[in-house]
Amino acid sequence: MRVTVVGCSGSFAGPRSAASCYLVQADDGEGRTWNVVLDLGSGAFGPLQAVVDPFDLDAVLLSHLHPDHVADITGLYVYRRYHPSRSGGVHTTQAPLAVWGPAGTCDRTVAMGASDSARELSGTFAFATWSPGTPVVIGPLRIEPFQVNHPVPAYAMRISGPSEAGPTRAVVLTYSGDTDLCAGLRQAAADADVLLCEAAFVEGRDDGIEGLHLTGMRAGTVARDAGVARLLLTHIPPWNDRGIAVREARAVFGGPVAEVEAGQVVAF
Ligand SMILES: [Zn+2]
Ligand SMILES: [Zn+2]
Repeated sequence: MRVTVVGCSGSFAGPRSAASCYLVQADDGEGRTWNVVLDLGSGAFGPLQAVVDPFDLDAVLLSHLHPDHVADITGLYVYRRYHPSRSGGVHTTQAPLAVWGPAGTCDRTVAMGASDSARELSGTFAFATWSPGTPVVIGPLRIEPFQVNHPVPAYAMRISGPSEAGPTRAVVLTYSGDTDLCAGLRQAAADADVLLCEAAFVEGRDDGIEGLHLTGMRAGTVARDAGVARLLLTHIPPWNDRGIAVREARAVFGGPVAEVEAGQVVAF
């Protein structure tokens, strides 16, 4: 499994990165690479085109419907629907792209002005709603959603798939989406090889705000309690001091921890 960080800026696009977007790729052992995108936040569709052909996506998986996680689905729609040489050509017969998200994902996409109606969108996207406890299988990837703690319906994803070391070994990537501490995130992260975890808040600065985001220390606590092998911190807003999330996490988590940056590829 390979994760390319397309965008990792927290809450809005920043000067060095788009907002949340991660390309997850896995080979199925029969010569096909599967491509799924986790979130499509503000500014992310630009750099996404540099790392994958948007017609080669197999699914879009949305953690929740805040703009920094979903806004650029509008660009993906225009690209796949109206590409002058491809939307009417070889890809005409391509099935609509699967878009998994919370209830209301289709309506939100319409509300953002991508299209005038759900009916028009349905030729390009096939929307489906997460159901906790019901995994989704996309090629060699198995994605299980877990409800997490955010002001709107939001999901962490536990993604199992083949290791880069060999297709017979399974590895687990857990993506937090946006969340404060909760049982759902701990369950999603249990014994994960990689926990890609938001750390938007800072200890001391944001202590009075509950049910929204993690700090580096809270992310480290989840990693420690869930027994994850490696912690990657993300969704850090440009106004945070660089490095503070990693320092906080290291105070409570003994494993490897780092802050991701746009363009980085993590293979495991
Ligand atoms: Zn966010
Ligand atoms: Zn959010």
